[in-house]
Amino acid sequence: MRATVMYGAHDVRVETVPDAKIVEPTDALVRVTRACICGSDLWPYNSMPPSKTGNRMGHEFIGIVESIGADVRTVKKGDLVVAPFAWSDGTCEFCQQGLQTSCLHGGWWGGTELDGGQGEAVRVPQANGTLVALPVGPDHALMPSLLTLSDVMGTGHHAALRANVRPGKVAAVVGDGAVGLCGVIAARRLGAEQIIMLGRHADRIAMARKFGATDVVSERGDAAIERVRELTGGLGAHSVLECVGHGESMRTAVGIARAGGAVGRVGVPQETTIPNAQPTFYANITIAGGPAPVRAYMLELMPDVLEGRIEPGLVFDRVTNIDGVPEGYRAMNDREAIKIMIEF
Ligand SMILES: [Zn+2]
Repeated sequence: MRATVMYGAHDVRVETVPDAKIVEPTDALVRVTRACICGSDLWPYNSMPPSKTGNRMGHEFIGIVESIGADVRTVKKGDLVVAPFAWSDGTCEFCQQGLQTSCLHGGWWGGTELDGGQGEAVRVPQANGTLVALPVGPDHALMPSLLTLSDVMGTGHHAALRANVRPGKVAAVVGDGAVGLCGVIAARRLGAEQIIMLGRHADRIAMARKFGATDVVSERGDAAIERVRELTGGLGAHSVLECVGHGESMRTAVGIARAGGAVGRVGVPQETTIPNAQPTFYANITIAGGPAPVRAYMLELMPDVLEGRIEPGLVFDRVTNIDGVPEGYRAMNDREAIKIMIEF
């Protein structure tokens, strides 16, 4: 089968690899129908040291179950399924709490040991806990939005929950990538009255407004903080969704949170410390977040997608096939594309 392998920074190849197959009785074999490239794939794309073996890539996919191991009960051959960006057993202490990203028997796609989503097929470990069957066919018009449940929509929702978004309050979103845009959807869905998007790219700002952003701040650094303060009566936002992970974006995020407010961070931190420890301490600002347990949110968000109340699939502004994946990485990295869907 063919799959995407990253060998180092700016070195993404599509190669023939050994066919995915069932190994454990808890596995399912899924033939991928749609996948995508993630903003978080751009971190290794810019920094991965050269590797001889390479890393298999992709953690967001929808596909058809080709076969199942003897212990798989929750999905069957022929089901169309969506996979979350981390796999999990669904039964351990943390899964029962809805924190599947900390599953005691779970893990992450790709790397050197497992298949990734950016390939023709995937061996899915812990299929009972991991996969969610979709109630539609593989060519349904809502496929792009359903695909976002594997990561970006669930991640935006997690940022909003951890930032304690409340009806009638002010939310601010730092980052105009796919997660930030989904964060706008999530903040609106949870009832925020004022939603301030911090971003600079005209196409992304337009999409943020379509999703419910009421204000846009395109300044950076201290100027951005000042502008958000102006827009909030000098007080700052109740809820800040940090959807980037850079030191700069985190500094902005804590700088625009009001006293007693919360920052929900879902951007993978690129620095070892959280900035402005003393001001955030004296202002009683909560800093929360981490990798989103999107598996916990899939069933909650899916009706909103299927019934048309939210359309996060609009974040896909380019579609390619597997041969176009290396070019897709380049286009996302150069900010020519927001998010790229791969059709198989
Ligand atoms: Zn678990």
